[in-house]
Amino acid sequence: MEEVIEMPDGITYLSTLSGGLDSALITYLIMKLKPNSKMVLSSFCLQHQQNHNFDTVKKIMNYLDYTFPFRIIDHRIGFVRDIEHAKNGGRSKQTRELLQQYDIHGIISGFTINPPELMIEGRDETRDAPREWRSINQHGIYHYQPFVNRDKRYIAELYQQYQLQELADLTVSCEAEQPPRPCKKCWWCKEKHWAFGFY
Ligand SMILES: [Zn+2]
Repeated sequence: MEEVIEMPDGITYLSTLSGGLDSALITYLIMKLKPNSKMVLSSFCLQHQQNHNFDTVKKIMNYLDYTFPFRIIDHRIGFVRDIEHAKNGGRSKQTRELLQQYDIHGIISGFTINPPELMIEGRDETRDAPREWRSINQHGIYHYQPFVNRDKRYIAELYQQYQLQELADLTVSCEAEQPPRPCKKCWWCKEKHWAFGFY
């Protein structure tokens, strides 16, 4: 949390709200601990998965807007064909548009490091190594990733500390394309179970 404490107040942040636990938590914490800050939210829905996270990001946004009235300036939802489309342009195009439209001075992400346990299937090895929690991105804006060197159990502790079970219940971590969700098989399901003890 030292990283979060170090982050500035009184600015407008851009947060990518994915529908998962990490981005919901970091957005909540910034809004709670930086009371003079404003928030622009950016989300993506995958068309080939029937926009499965659309309702999820809407519910999280409503929760945050209700908890912190008049602090969210905008919630932009982009629709992309698939994850590759999101990575190759869709995401940075939406970010660029929001940066042009609003006076944003920080981008926040809730990325975490992988669990130390040897969970192999589906593991993204780029999340194994320690990374800089604060950097300047391609748009010349500070990019804050205060949990980038913490694992999901740290996220679970913060959910407990701030009594955020209601928020946790709104999030969906599973990336399965077909129901049932949670599938209990994908990487995100396994990581959540490892940290929270439930799917
Ligand atoms: Zn899953």
